[in-house]
Amino acid sequence: MIPLIRYYSYSCPSCGEVTDRSWSKVLMGPARSVCRHCSREYAAAALEWPQMRGKERRELLLPDMVQIWLAVTVIVMLFVSPALIGGGDRAIVVAGQLLLFLLAPVLLFLVARYVQIRRSIARSRGP
Ligand SMILES: [Zn+2]
Repeated sequence: MIPLIRYYSYSCPSCGEVTDRSWSKVLMGPARSVCRHCSREYAAAALEWPQMRGKERRELLLPDMVQIWLAVTVIVMLFVSPALIGGGDRAIVVAGQLLLFLLAPVLLFLVARYVQIRRSIARSRGP
């Protein structure tokens, strides 16, 4: 499981300093970027949202990390459900709270992505 959890980093071709990090294999951003460390312009391995194909968009929204987390959520819910069956309203509330607690990181991730996508679309329209 551990080798599946990857944090991708991207570095400047001139000075080698890490310029971006991402949970997904796809990096969203302008095609040309200026390095914060050496101030040189470089071609970034990045795409803006409108240029991405379906596969890249899926990778951006559901990287391995998120897929593993969702799988863990399903397993936990399957594991606890026998204990909750027959528990009435109280059990439904507990199950709902547990599900919300487990899904919170994914929801936060998707909200952050939504903001990034809005920015990417705005950049692509450009002046
Ligand atoms: Zn640099």
